[in-house]
Amino acid sequence: MGKIKRIGVLTSGGDSAGMNAAIRAVVRTATVKKIEVVGFIRGYEGLINADYRRMDSRSVSGIVNLGGTVLKTARSKRFAAKEGRRQAYATLKNLSIDGLVVIGGDGSFRGAEKFGREYNFPVIGIPGTIDNDIAGTDFTLGSDTAVNVALDAVDKIRDTATSMERIFVIEVMGRNSGYIALQVALAGGCEEVLIPERNFNINKVCESITEGNIRGKISWIVIVAEGRGKAADIADRIHKITGLETRVTVLGHIQRGGRPTYADRVLGAKFGSFAVELLLKGQTLKTTGIKSQKLVSIDFNYAIKNKKLLEADSYLKLIKILT
Ligand code: ADP
Repeated sequence: MGKIKRIGVLTSGGDSAGMNAAIRAVVRTATVKKIEVVGFIRGYEGLINADYRRMDSRSVSGIVNLGGTVLKTARSKRFAAKEGRRQAYATLKNLSIDGLVVIGGDGSFRGAEKFGREYNFPVIGIPGTIDNDIAGTDFTLGSDTAVNVALDAVDKIRDTATSMERIFVIEVMGRNSGYIALQVALAGGCEEVLIPERNFNINKVCESITEGNIRGKISWIVIVAEGRGKAADIADRIHKITGLETRVTVLGHIQRGGRPTYADRVLGAKFGSFAVELLLKGQTLKTTGIKSQKLVSIDFNYAIKNKKLLEADSYLKLIKILT
């Protein structure tokens, strides 16, 4: 493999806070090493459509504190098909690009792995997903910010829950993952948390609410990950069984936005810089990760095929003890 002179960078799939910090670190690390950078717009769609812009140090000024991604992101049906990937390869060849950094979640990594293997093209991933569900890394970009945004909302709802003596059911993001729900429930002092990874018994939930009521508890917050059910349905069932008044809040997309926390910015800086180093060392089909505070590289295949350990049971136990 020849020397790397020019690399591409893109963000793909769901956006997450810290992606901009990672883009900035990719561009500036490469620039210091005299490597040119091309940014592709809207993920793999930008590769297929040759929609790109040259990036230099100045083009990433003032973005480290912004949520979302300045390169925009998208889901690309075309890239999942062979013909789309052929067009993507043609774009990279036309632009004389010799390595690619893909910032995204496990779907994006599946695409990157397939593409890199098919065309023997160097690809390094950076994990960006609010659900922190990539195996092999302790953290992904955006989960810390998402948890903090949701927690801020829960804290505010707690104020009114305490004043009005009501049960609040709050739905947080997580179609397949209870990560955000568990963190928020423990950090927010919530009484109950329902996650996709565990079944729940509504009668048991209501029993503990009734018991709590007898012990003198005046407010109750139930966190529901969206993949476990609709907050409105759960609130209805609680009301029917206990007769207590319930209120529902669905936090929705605010959890993706907002200023990235320091933790996500620092992670973005480290991952971005490390991704460029990995490409320069001739590494490919790997994602950056962090394990016990050390940067590591993880094979795409490992990251894609393994499920990340959630430690749900220890969270659920602690939440019960602290209620
Ligand atoms: P995320 O990266 O956030 O998990 P998606 O699952 O939507 O987001 O994946 C982003 C994009 O990655 C998809 O739109 C598609 O272009 C590509 N992709 C996902 N899975 C595959 C696959 N098995 N083969 C090829 N490309 C894929």
